[in-house]
Amino acid sequence: MLGRAKKGTCETCGKSNRSLRRLDSGQWVCHTCLREIRPARAKGDVPLATIRRLQAAGFHVDDYAANDEVRRLKAIENLRHQGVHLPESATAEQISAALSSISREWYDKIAGVSRTQRLVRSLDPGDQLFPVRDPGNRYDANAIKLLNEDGDQVGWIRAEANGSMAHDMDKGVYHEVFVKEITGHYQRLLGVNIRIVKYPNRRIQPGVATPEMSAAMRKAPATVGTAPIKPSPGLGYFAGRAARYLVDYAKSLFG
Ligand SMILES: [Zn+2]
Repeated sequence: MLGRAKKGTCETCGKSNRSLRRLDSGQWVCHTCLREIRPARAKGDVPLATIRRLQAAGFHVDDYAANDEVRRLKAIENLRHQGVHLPESATAEQISAALSSISREWYDKIAGVSRTQRLVRSLDPGDQLFPVRDPGNRYDANAIKLLNEDGDQVGWIRAEANGSMAHDMDKGVYHEVFVKEITGHYQRLLGVNIRIVKYPNRRIQPGVATPEMSAAMRKAPATVGTAPIKPSPGLGYFAGRAARYLVDYAKSLFG
């Protein structure tokens, strides 16, 4: 494959001070000659369209760039779309560190579902749940409620595992929680396994719904006081009790 590049004299046309690519044969040739010898991308290479997109985004990448190099730049471009700006020269290590800062996920089970079995039975894998801090909780200052899309409380984040999440939520860090599976079908009580996703770079904005929240809570127009609240155009309405929890939560964070 065409991997390496350097500046120098083309071994085909003899022109000097060219940026050269090494052919599989070991010969160093300039881009003009290369274009005559073979097409920019071979079968199995990262497609030319990807390179065109990177070029349009301002990356310094030529049509003959090695696949690893294209993938590296593509990763940087993706990170920029997610709000993380790395320089074009970022190393693989820097990229993977940045990627890990974008989201982190872990699995757990919901605590306190013995009294909410009716709600648990209505859940399906993939359903989104909404974590809401309960800072006034008498028993646990780190308590985090989990609400379903109607705003009914299904349970809690386990007390043994809520410390750092509570700390993050108090700073406004955005989390998503999804039902992974319902367990215990052959026992008396059902349980709920969940997937929790933390987005260290995203913050909950007071009074503004994320599209995810909004989609989940579109069921009924909400009222807080007397007026329906519309978080932002096109995002729909908060619904019912979930809206009030979210507004209370936002108030608790931002006064
Ligand atoms: Zn040449």
